[in-house]
Amino acid sequence: MRARLEEDAARAGAGTVLCRNCRFCTTVCPVGVRIPDVMTMINLSVAAGSDDVRSGDLLRRAYEARTAGGPASACVGCHACDGRCPQGIPIIWQMARATLLFER
Ligand code: SF4
Ligand code: SF4
Repeated sequence: MRARLEEDAARAGAGTVLCRNCRFCTTVCPVGVRIPDVMTMINLSVAAGSDDVRSGDLLRRAYEARTAGGPASACVGCHACDGRCPQGIPIIWQMARATLLFER
């Protein structure tokens, strides 16, 4: 499970995500993952740098608040969001990335 998550997260890359908060993806997700909020938190994490422990704690708390009810780990991998993003973001991989970043 963890290996699969790491594999998918690696596919997502390490840079910021060009999410425009259009919310097209949210209309198709069957489990209500708060996809644009997850993307925002990934971008904040990239901006903060990953080696600052204090900002890491703050980001985790902000992530929990912002994605309450629909964290990235709720993604069931159904692929319903595939091809839905006008920015071409591979959403499912970014959910794996965020799960490792903020929830493990
Ligand atoms: S793959 Fe994950 S994020 Fe995409 S629609 Fe399915 S559950 Fe939602
Ligand atoms: S469809 Fe793409 S750009 Fe729009 S909110 Fe979802 S991830 Fe962001």
